[in-house]
Amino acid sequence: MEKYIIIILIFLVLFYLYNCIMIIENFEDDTQWSDNWTKLDFEARKDDICTPISKEYKKLGPINSWIWTVPISCENGMPHTRDENIIAIPNGFSEIRLPKTIEHEKIHLHQRRSQKDWIKFYKKYWNYEIFKQPPLSLPKELTEMKRANPDTNDAPFACWKGKWWSVPVYYSTTDLKFRNCIVKWWNSKTNKIHSEAPDDWLSFFGQKVSQAEHPHEISAVYIANILFDDYDESVKAMNILNKKWDRVNEKLIN
Ligand SMILES: [Zn+2]
Repeated sequence: MEKYIIIILIFLVLFYLYNCIMIIENFEDDTQWSDNWTKLDFEARKDDICTPISKEYKKLGPINSWIWTVPISCENGMPHTRDENIIAIPNGFSEIRLPKTIEHEKIHLHQRRSQKDWIKFYKKYWNYEIFKQPPLSLPKELTEMKRANPDTNDAPFACWKGKWWSVPVYYSTTDLKFRNCIVKWWNSKTNKIHSEAPDDWLSFFGQKVSQAEHPHEISAVYIANILFDDYDESVKAMNILNKKWDRVNEKLIN
């Protein structure tokens, strides 16, 4: 008799755990990040379907994650992260590019999990500050045209050296393709908008930063490059990050 009670108890515990997992999973399906979207952000994503096709929990070293395979319409087919533990990869994404992309996205998860460490690093070593809200004087043409990025959504506005604000914007109100987006640089001291990064920024961060819009992107690009032997020793900002990034434990060294 006792044996049956134990079996029933085990069954009930397992059933309870299964339900807990399903609740968490369903919650993750609803992961939204549209709080700060502009009209154009909604327009650009109106046909997006981001419901995962499949989900797999992966051990990726110290930074583990759910890997969602999502339809290619989601985020214009760009890999990205959501919450602290989801990497969304478009269906059919290049197998060759996948390992480096996963390393890049893992850094975004780490930025969410250890936001304070990154804020400290950006400020101390890169002269960057990041903000949830734009400064009131940021020109309207930038706030209205700004492209939301899930990987920088915790604090989307970045300011370098206390005056240079880098803002990713849609190419035009009728061309909302992500691949055509550009980064504009607003100097808060002169109130001028520039299409190119300032010279001192380029000499510190390098001429070839593929995603200059935000330090979250710059650091994710650098670390993936360092891991995949694309390390450029002449780039000061990359050198500093390399020294401060503990590859084994995958965390920042303070
Ligand atoms: Zn990224």
